[in-house]
Amino acid sequence: MRDPEVITLNGATFKRLISAKEIEDKVGVLAKQIRSDMGNAEIPVFLCVLKGAFVFAADLVRNYEGLCELQFLRMSSYSGANTTGKVTLYPGLDGEKLKGRRVVVVEDIVDTGLSMNYLLKDLRQYNPRTLELAAMFTKPSRLCHDVKVDYSCFDIPDAFIVGYGLDYDGLYRNLPAIYVKE
Ligand code: 5GP
Repeated sequence: MRDPEVITLNGATFKRLISAKEIEDKVGVLAKQIRSDMGNAEIPVFLCVLKGAFVFAADLVRNYEGLCELQFLRMSSYSGANTTGKVTLYPGLDGEKLKGRRVVVVEDIVDTGLSMNYLLKDLRQYNPRTLELAAMFTKPSRLCHDVKVDYSCFDIPDAFIVGYGLDYDGLYRNLPAIYVKE
């Protein structure tokens, strides 16, 4: 089995919360739902937030039975040397290609909602026609910022999860299922 119930890695024990099959089924349903909402005339741009959403985005676009584009961005903050102070850049993003388009931000997990609250507001500068959010996981009990999650696969309890793109200190992104550290 590629996603056993319990695994031990580097001396730490992980318990499975969501199996690879459950994930596969949910992502398939979600892709169909987005396709149906988009209709035939639309070519959406899926905007994958690196690094955590790379696995979800790969599965989502492969299940999307229609034309679509894929872009990537990485959120990073720098303290600028000029008077504006802190600057947030999106390395790798071609903002011009979002103009007038239906954009779906693809995120791994919405926890407090801080990151997506910021990103969704900021992406408005590129004048997309519509801007929606697809999050693989949400933690409803932790949400404290105003974020509308348009598409989501799983609501999970307040626990720190790894696998399916999500890491702990750079590790475990390659696990095909979702695990909680014991
Ligand atoms: P938020 O801004 O919503 O509070 O946090 C979102 C980000 O925190 C996610 O994109 C992810 O990088 C990280 N994060 C939140 N919860 C978890 C979790 O349970 N596991 C992992 N690996 N990362 C998480």
